[in-house]
Amino acid sequence: MREGRSAVVIFLGPPGAGKGTQAERLAREHDLVKISTGDILRDHVARGTELGERVRPILDAGQLVPDDILIALIRDRLSSMERVRVIFDGFPRTVAQARALDVLLEELAAPIVGVPLLEVPDEELIRRIVERGQASGRSDDNEHVARERQRVYREQTQPLIDYYGGRVRRVDGIGVLDDVYGRIVASVQ
Ligand code: ADP
Repeated sequence: MREGRSAVVIFLGPPGAGKGTQAERLAREHDLVKISTGDILRDHVARGTELGERVRPILDAGQLVPDDILIALIRDRLSSMERVRVIFDGFPRTVAQARALDVLLEELAAPIVGVPLLEVPDEELIRRIVERGQASGRSDDNEHVARERQRVYREQTQPLIDYYGGRVRRVDGIGVLDDVYGRIVASVQ
């Protein structure tokens, strides 16, 4: 990723794969802004905004928030940026979101420079989410909701692997954080 230029990384992978942690480091070390839609939505819930009240039950059920809400949110974020150097964590999550993002990036002349796909087996994902829930208290991090999020991922988000096609780089998400990170960096350069 050349410094200074617009660049967009789209980080794909199932819930619990560790995208958030890895995206944060990639952002820090490569001068990118991390945009985590899950964090943004949880922040609205925590602040009790109108949007937060609307999405709270959806998050707690492990379902997806409607596309128009997410698309408006991302449009706002990107248009206020002087230069679009971004890593997306948790967006897009549907083909409709991916199409809207393509239009937006075209308008902003910001190229997608990498689409890493972090792969972790299902049972390991559930184990990680349940462990994270015990530490964080996140209301959707329990086994029941985690399984629903997995199902929603398979149904609505996995089609993005075909959508991005040859741009997708599969990355093994098992192993120590540093090794996984190294594989991700290699996949976007
Ligand atoms: P995880 O990857 O662990 O499932 P996230 O923090 O990415 O967690 O997302 C948490 C919840 O926020 C999702 O289950 C969903 O309800 C909502 N959400 C986040 N991003 C999106 C999105 N792009 N489209 C629709 N809903 C979203």
